[in-house]
Amino acid sequence: MISQTKTFRRITRRLVLPLLLLPSSTFSTYHPSTGPCQLSPSWQSLPLLSSHKLTNQTSTFTYSLPSSTESLNLSPCACILVRNPSGIVRPYTPTSNNSLKGSFTLTVKLYQNGVLSNSIFKNEPLEFCHINKNVKLQYPLSTSIKRVLLIAGGTGITPINQLLECIDSEGDTVKEVVVFIGDQSSDDVINLECISALEQTNSPKFKIIRAYSGGENGRFIDEDAIRQHFVKSEGDCLAAICGPPPMMTSICGDREDSDVTGALKRLGWKKDEVYKF
Ligand SMILES: Cc1cc2nc3c(=O)[nH]c(=O)nc-3n(C[C@H](O)[C@H](O)[C@H](O)COP(=O)(O)OP(=O)(O)OC[C@H]3O[C@@H](n4cnc5c(N)ncnc54)[C@H](O)[C@@H]3O)c2cc1C
Repeated sequence: MISQTKTFRRITRRLVLPLLLLPSSTFSTYHPSTGPCQLSPSWQSLPLLSSHKLTNQTSTFTYSLPSSTESLNLSPCACILVRNPSGIVRPYTPTSNNSLKGSFTLTVKLYQNGVLSNSIFKNEPLEFCHINKNVKLQYPLSTSIKRVLLIAGGTGITPINQLLECIDSEGDTVKEVVVFIGDQSSDDVINLECISALEQTNSPKFKIIRAYSGGENGRFIDEDAIRQHFVKSEGDCLAAICGPPPMMTSICGDREDSDVTGALKRLGWKKDEVYKF
């Protein structure tokens, strides 16, 4: 009897405990907004708390929120607007999620003659606001979505990262995710935690393809590359894309144009299957 109990305990320790310790997601859990966003549709100034250099041209900037005990409470995949002292406005998707209280983080690439990115890097006084209904893609996804194609160019990786984070923490509804990450070179890519974590798991569910247009790995995100890695099926697919204007034009059509054109149209994608961040 004693030996049977010991054997049972040994089996429990070896088989059951590791299963209980297994994380439900690779790197984080989904943090939906639990109340109204701390930023209103009116402009408000927020102080910079800290900044941290990630690559030669990319840094993170952490801004203090009005309430130190509340999170930003922005829906995953949504962006905020930033305005500089000259009144120039650009959208940015925070790289922190709603688990962070009292502050939020932007990851920003510095463009040589870029107006707003230079204002951010020079720590000019900035104003922020949240546009209601700016969320083109809300989470959770419809349960009919089983296969997802994500295409990120440059800093377009920030909203794609939010979506990946949601999909990873959500379980098994989505069966296949193919992510294209495009930039000029590997030095330019913002290595966000989730992407690196997913790559390290070698999970068959997530396939990450890095394409460096500067020639480093000879890859380019175009119709052939997409066809090679993702063949669209009917009724269960979604594509989400965020990148610089020329990339949007060639792959799915301009951001402001609700129709799908370019490579995705030629590959059979329809308007209600493609989200342009
Ligand atoms: C939904 C969404 C989320 C985003 N999230 C992020 C984010 O998290 N992080 C981030 O860094 N960016 C993000 N962006 C991009 C961001 O909004 C800005 O477009 C980016 O910071 C560049 O803005 P800028 O004012 O610095 O550059 P701009 O002044 O707009 O210039 C951009 C580039 O174009 C060149 N350029 C400008 N005018 C001309 C001209 N007339 N002829 C030729 N070249 C020109 C500039 O030299 C520069 O290289 C996001 C965009 C979207 C749509």
